[in-house]
Amino acid sequence: MDRATQSEAIREATAAMADRMAAEKSFLTDLDSAIGDADHGANMNRGFQAALERLEDADDDPATLVKTVGVALVSEVGGAAGPLYGGSLMKASGELEDGVTAESSVAFAERYLETVEERGKASVGDKTMVDAITPAVHTYKKAIEVDDHDPLEALGKAVDAAERGVAFTTPIRAKKGRASYLGWRSVGHQDPGATSTLYLLEELFAVAEEHLDGDVEIDAEADVDPEELEEAAADGNGGGGP
Ligand code: ADP
Ligand code: MG
Repeated sequence: MDRATQSEAIREATAAMADRMAAEKSFLTDLDSAIGDADHGANMNRGFQAALERLEDADDDPATLVKTVGVALVSEVGGAAGPLYGGSLMKASGELEDGVTAESSVAFAERYLETVEERGKASVGDKTMVDAITPAVHTYKKAIEVDDHDPLEALGKAVDAAERGVAFTTPIRAKKGRASYLGWRSVGHQDPGATSTLYLLEELFAVAEEHLDGDVEIDAEADVDPEELEEAAADGNGGGGP
């Protein structure tokens, strides 16, 4: 894929993500009303609409485009999720300076996860977006570097892993973010940020599918064992607050 096609794919992915955030706005807000302050859907929708606008004037270069989306999310999403999503995209965009390849996409994913963890100080099992991103990134990296899958197949597996991560947020207690103020009362509710992360990954996969060769089943066996996640949760760190 040449640079122009990469840039086009990033623009398309952002547009697909913006549509999805608009479509899921009330659902995400419902999730956030159960364990937060009922604004996650509105926040994400506002952020992605702003991202689309900013992309109109942005230079056609993959790293610049991703960074532009990050800047828009930081300025418009607000709350806890804005800086986490946006700041991490801004940081990780640096890994795409030489374009999007299997290798640079792994570096991008790892840098994104690292930055979310660094800024949010949350770990797997704290009932946050980290529970969706971590298995997705680990699965993606392993699929490419160890199992030698192509990026599309790897991304399909990452989406499956994120989906399991989202399901895993329901039965656990929140230890970070606003939901942590509820303590045990947060149990039984799916985390909004993990859910929006899954939706964004699903849209990325759908656009990647149009641009990359191959026909991949999205429900392929994932490489991350849910038991591993539960173990990580069991020895996860305590503490509250964002
Ligand atoms: P706010 O909680 O400030 O209203 P949002 O509602 O937009 O912000 O986003 C809430 C989501 O942000 C949560 O569902 C959770 O996934 C994520 N989140 C909150 N705090 C953290 C944190 N410290 N680390 C990682 N993710 C977090
Ligand atoms: Mg909220």
